Amino acid sequence: MNREIIFAGNWKMHKRIGEAIELANGLLRELYGIEECKIIICPPFTALSEVKDVIMDSDILLGAQNMFWEKEGAYTGEISPLMLKDVGCEYVIIGHSERRKYFGEDEQIVNRKIKLALETGLKPIFCLGEKLEERKAGKTLEIVEIQLIGGLKDLSGENMRNVIIAYEPVWAIGTGVNATPQQAEDVQAFIRQKLTELYGKQIAEGVSILYGGSVKPDNIEELMAEKDIDGVLVGGASLRVESFSQIVRKGMAVKIRR
Ligand code: PEP
Repeated sequence: MNREIIFAGNWKMHKRIGEAIELANGLLRELYGIEECKIIICPPFTALSEVKDVIMDSDILLGAQNMFWEKEGAYTGEISPLMLKDVGCEYVIIGHSERRKYFGEDEQIVNRKIKLALETGLKPIFCLGEKLEERKAGKTLEIVEIQLIGGLKDLSGENMRNVIIAYEPVWAIGTGVNATPQQAEDVQAFIRQKLTELYGKQIAEGVSILYGGSVKPDNIEELMAEKDIDGVLVGGASLRVESFSQIVRKGMAVKIRR
């Protein structure tokens, strides 16, 4: 089955406008001509417009890191998916563990956001993953299942063609300790099995499932060699032209060989 191979960079709360333009220009230079995969960069809100101008005529795509669950209204400080579309975003990260941890986002909120993203024509990159204590307690699959089913509530099989899932074990995010390829594959195969139960094999086989958590140029190849790892969501290593472009090039080479 031909699933989309995706390399997404989450810049988090880094890069002022000038720095963001510089990074986007560098990526454009380094990744020119890379085909057969999707490269998505997710700058902070304040730099979306300028980064869009840089990548306008390229194959690099624009994503946001979050959105609100309503289209419009008296929600001071929030950003509507319509505003993200307006500025040129095609993707939006939803349910990142940092949103869950610092802003109390739960399954209901994540589900509302995913549904509105789809309704407004954005493709959600739906993040889920267990905490260290949950893994230690042997509850990884239980937690992932709760998050998966809660986040996807009421979504149709047709909707799933526009959803990307990112398995991001919380203990691996920003820690330098990545999940082993086998640990990631076990959970991602489980996610695909659950998707099969929910939507049937054909839809489940078409959903790209990314791994995220301390992905670097020196671990990308072994991760991408796994069957159910269709790409990566990268935080820290997406902030430098050299490391992110190496991740894309090395990761792509593995998938092409297979
Ligand atoms: C992330 O924030 O989604 C992430 C995976 O971060 P890092 O690559 O820095 O672990």
